[in-house]
Amino acid sequence: MTGTNQHPVSFEFFPPKTEVGMNKLQETRRVLGQMNPEYFSVTYGAGGSTRDNTKKVVFDGIDAGFNTAPHLSFGGDEKEAILNLLKEYQANGVSRIVALRGDLPSGFGAGSRLVHANELVSFIREHTGDHFQLAVAAYPEIHPEAESYDTDIHFLKQKFDAGANSAITQYFFNPDAYAFFIERCQKAGIDQPIYPGIMPITNFDNLKRFSQSCGAEIPRWLTYRVESLKDSPDDLKSFCTDFMTSLCEKLLSYGAPGLHFYTMNQIEPTQSICHNLNIK
Ligand code: FAD
Repeated sequence: MTGTNQHPVSFEFFPPKTEVGMNKLQETRRVLGQMNPEYFSVTYGAGGSTRDNTKKVVFDGIDAGFNTAPHLSFGGDEKEAILNLLKEYQANGVSRIVALRGDLPSGFGAGSRLVHANELVSFIREHTGDHFQLAVAAYPEIHPEAESYDTDIHFLKQKFDAGANSAITQYFFNPDAYAFFIERCQKAGIDQPIYPGIMPITNFDNLKRFSQSCGAEIPRWLTYRVESLKDSPDDLKSFCTDFMTSLCEKLLSYGAPGLHFYTMNQIEPTQSICHNLNIK
């Protein structure tokens, strides 16, 4: 199934650990699937910890008629294991992959080496040619381990030069960060599409914690506003949906090629934001 929206959207899921979670995800996919997304994507746990569940959710999605893309990283795996996984994906109708370096899972020694995403992209191209559409990660507010803004863009370019087709950004709440980033990417010779990653605001305490580790900035005024509404759930919900809608509108007006939603496996608020944007 291919999207038909004026602004292409894609929806990201994580692989649930329980049967209840899997059933809930099927309903989320059914409802969000009515909005004709370009594809769904399914995350891959650090170090390959969700390999089987990721595969299951991806194959279920394909069986249900949806273009569904696994996220993939080398993790702690040997090349042969990744090659077998790629072959399995290829044989089962997967046509798109989100290629990442990933992070070290807790318990891995400090000496463990992570394989950078450009090497994974080269590996996939070397062994499967042009079969897969490859998306990579990009960071408008800079990856937390990056030496500098410019080296981070240099390494993003390296991922495109290795054969990536597009990028999806880490989430952010300041649209100017995206506009500035795109301008700098273009100056560095990147002309492939860079889709902003959209994180609808739901559990704000979790979001604050996670944002610290992944280097996404939550503006002070937004923190104050959200926290001031925490005893009025309806007002909070409506403020967050309006704020995210307005962020998406600004990004599209800046020329974003589409939107990638981090759904957290929930129908709402992604559905309401999309409806506000006339994506139905
Ligand atoms: P890389 O592109 O390898 O970059 C990592 C760091 O190294 C950057 O600081 C970069 O500047 C630098 N660098 C890049 N290439 C080189 C090089 N060749 N030599 C030296 N330095 C280099 N994590 C998961 O565990 N599972 C997921 O499913 C997942 N999905 C994600 C989806 C999206 C859209 C995004 C934005 C992130 C996702 N992440 C996921 C998180 C991601 O794995 C982490 O942000 C990770 O720290 C970096 O991955 P990367 O692919 O960007 O790495």
